[in-house]
Amino acid sequence: MTTLVALLSEVRACVLCAEHLPLGPRPVVQMHRSARILIAGQAPGRKVHETGVPFSDASGDRLRTWLGLSREEFYDAEQVAILPMGFCFPGTGRSGDLPPRSECAPAWRAALMSQLKNLRLTLVIGQYAQAYHLPNEAASVTGAVQAWQKNWPHTVPLPHPSPRNNLWLKRNPWFETELVPALRRRVAEVLGRDG
Ligand code: SF4
Repeated sequence: MTTLVALLSEVRACVLCAEHLPLGPRPVVQMHRSARILIAGQAPGRKVHETGVPFSDASGDRLRTWLGLSREEFYDAEQVAILPMGFCFPGTGRSGDLPPRSECAPAWRAALMSQLKNLRLTLVIGQYAQAYHLPNEAASVTGAVQAWQKNWPHTVPLPHPSPRNNLWLKRNPWFETELVPALRRRVAEVLGRDG
């Protein structure tokens, strides 16, 4: 049986789609077998590629606010696993970052997910994670997020916390007035603290 340490070493040495990565492979993942929360995101952006720290950008600041987590809590791998759908920065296209590399999830995701036996809450961020973790939900992110109570309290679809989504947040004020407060309470409950 492959241990998580061995598996993560393999992931960190992965060059499977290197020829398509403009800045080369640099898988950015955070996990420990005991993690209770999984953040299933999209792919690292350029800044995260440079730092090697997931969500070390404006998206991360907003996501931590949504979850009510300090940086210390967010980066505690024993509590929070962070596995984007593509582990390396995929490059930039005309309208922002490119999609996560399609080679990544088939190569690694099932093996890594099988190590997470203590998960109590999965946060599904954006359309690529939604297609994998909530395949039976609405095709659109908005539709899935509107139906957030459907898979509550174990799996919660979220829009991407990027500043690019400011307009979406403005058009969907219920997200921050209804879903976010409930999510904060749920995160606190999962981590065994009082909100
Ligand atoms: S994106 Fe995934 S499959 Fe491609 S090199 Fe990085 S870890 Fe390997």
